[in-house]
Amino acid sequence: MKEAMLYESLSDGRVICNVCSRRCAIPLGSIGFCRVRKNIDGKLYSLVYGKVCSMAVDPIMKKPLYHFYPGSSVLSLATVGCNFRCIFCDNWVISQERDITGRELTPQNIVDIALEYACEGISYTYTEPTIFFELTYDTAKLAKDKKLFNTYVTNGYMTVEAIECIAPYLDAATVDFKGGGNPEFYKKYMLVPSVDPIYEALETMKKHGIHVEITNLMVTKYGDNLEDLRKLARWVCDNLGEDTVFHILRFHPDYQMLDVPSTPIKSMEEAYKVARGEGLNYVYLGNVPGHPYEDTYCPGCGSKIIDRFSFDIVSWRLKPGNLCSECGYKIAIVGEYKPGGSSYPFGLV
Ligand code: SF4
Repeated sequence: MKEAMLYESLSDGRVICNVCSRRCAIPLGSIGFCRVRKNIDGKLYSLVYGKVCSMAVDPIMKKPLYHFYPGSSVLSLATVGCNFRCIFCDNWVISQERDITGRELTPQNIVDIALEYACEGISYTYTEPTIFFELTYDTAKLAKDKKLFNTYVTNGYMTVEAIECIAPYLDAATVDFKGGGNPEFYKKYMLVPSVDPIYEALETMKKHGIHVEITNLMVTKYGDNLEDLRKLARWVCDNLGEDTVFHILRFHPDYQMLDVPSTPIKSMEEAYKVARGEGLNYVYLGNVPGHPYEDTYCPGCGSKIIDRFSFDIVSWRLKPGNLCSECGYKIAIVGEYKPGGSSYPFGLV
């Protein structure tokens, strides 16, 4: 347990948590919506500081980050809790856990494990990193000193203050949309009152130079409207730039949505064409191993320049400096390719 960052105390004993856009006003002795931040005697505490419930070494493409230090390995970790209530969550066992479970690990322990397993970075993922903000902040600072990069996999419901606080240490973020960002979908299936803060968070990340990749989960029948997807792709193109990586992820039945089938491949291919049609240069389909739209095509000449299978790079046809080997076009990738990208599940739950 550790006193939280970014909160205010009110004269009536309540505290306002300012790390995520719910900005819960938490009465004395109560917890916030995420269930892991508690008002004790008028102060806000993180109940999950140092309580790591999941940890694994992952290839960076699993985050997914396709245009950021390709081939690298990241130490991935989570605590229990979430500020969303998605009824299709595939990590619901930890995100919706009500007990504070996990192994005691300090930020220094986490950085030491990352170095021991030859990771290039650390990823705060599996559940929403905002709700274990203090652990991410302290770990990210130490990691930076050791020349490790830090990445978030986030639903984007962070406040501007939280982003500005972590920005000096946060190198990249995967920001996950569901259902094309449709506000009614967010209210009904995720208990999220407004999607507006996500767009504000994205603009703030861009302002601070954080590498951002977008994902959108196409939830069959309920969240697969192509017009919603078109609007999202348009916004990304206009506000984050045409080189922003845009992943369209296949839904699979999970948690309380077991009766909904996986997204048809045909719908995903249509969505791919819509996103490309809005001007985005790098659109990918995810959770479809072996599909040609996992690969990277040069925006300059159309040649296939990176061949992928699931989380692996099968062939890399870029020249140093990330230039297309056919036409010399500069591909928007941060860092040089390093073959590798190992995985190792610790299974700490
Ligand atoms: S992080 Fe938790 S306590 Fe804080 S505002 Fe969000 S849901 Fe509420």
